[in-house]
Amino acid sequence: MSMTYDGEHTRYCELAAQSVLTPADGLGGRRLAALVSGRLKWLNGTVLHYYFFDRETDGSMVQISDGPSRFVSWVGDEAQREAVRQAFRQWKEVGIGLEFTEVADRDEAEIRIGFMRGDGSWSYLGRDALGIPTGERTVNFGWPLTTAHGRATALHELGHVLGMPHEHQSPFAGIVWDEEAVYRELAGPPNMWSRQKTFHNIIRKLDPAEVDGSPWDFQSIMEYEFGEGMILEPEEFRKGLVPPGTLSRLDAEFARRWYPATGPAGPVRLSAFTSVPLDLGPGEQADHLIVPEGTRDYTVATFGQSDTVLGLFEEIDGEPRFMEADDDGGRPRNSSVTAHLVKGRRYVVRVRLYSARGSGQAALMYW
Ligand SMILES: [Zn+2]
Repeated sequence: MSMTYDGEHTRYCELAAQSVLTPADGLGGRRLAALVSGRLKWLNGTVLHYYFFDRETDGSMVQISDGPSRFVSWVGDEAQREAVRQAFRQWKEVGIGLEFTEVADRDEAEIRIGFMRGDGSWSYLGRDALGIPTGERTVNFGWPLTTAHGRATALHELGHVLGMPHEHQSPFAGIVWDEEAVYRELAGPPNMWSRQKTFHNIIRKLDPAEVDGSPWDFQSIMEYEFGEGMILEPEEFRKGLVPPGTLSRLDAEFARRWYPATGPAGPVRLSAFTSVPLDLGPGEQADHLIVPEGTRDYTVATFGQSDTVLGLFEEIDGEPRFMEADDDGGRPRNSSVTAHLVKGRRYVVRVRLYSARGSGQAALMYW
């Protein structure tokens, strides 16, 4: 997303560092891309807890060119926070199975939000946020969210939080850039991006497997605004591209496909030492319930030829709280989690298949 900075130049969102998988033996580029895109999605039904930095000491020291370093706060005022809450509500109202809950304790929050001016607007992609230390931001808003452009920025960054990439990097977009014009525009104020950063966020095309095979949606909230002379083809965008800055029909479909609203049927209960088949297509998820008959360490694991994310949640006050997760992406082993479970408590195991290899048959067991 972008905002008009000084009436002439556009300021862009910068996606924070993405997960890097090391290609293992026999793992081709396409499968690797599918792994990256699938493994960064949250397990459906996850309650994402978000937190706004709120202490005077929350901030960063920054150095402006050769001048002295100064402290810049991460704390935003109430109007900015409310704009973010509103954006979470809008994504939820699309009808998805994720929940968003604001918490006051940063240690409980998967998503930690700062409002540092001058640091750009950016977010980590999906589950990448889990790897960030709790004292650090996983999302930053670098400009006010109370304008039309600001509201679009909030929706856009939360799209990254859900695991959505930039739409203009879709290989289906068929965009031919005037690459030097793009590098030149982004190298100047207000972005001041290196060629590498511009390449990573704009020019670079995603692998077809990374973008779910959908056609280019130039009305997506995940599309940037581009000025005249940056896009050569399709010809209709030579004069520029201005997306509406709202959730498009396809944005909503994408979100519901990955995070369908959970149905009325509860998860199927597992018995210890008894494996159950997982009849899943790529991207699909199955939930199972564990109510242990004794208090001890248990292991939950998948079997078979598939790449899965496995997450274990404990039900506390009716809400599944995330305990631990594992993914077997790109490795010959299966995903497995070992945890101390307490007799009579309720635990939910969620397994998402993100790519099948061989037969694609998989099973789940705990012991
Ligand atoms: Zn972005």
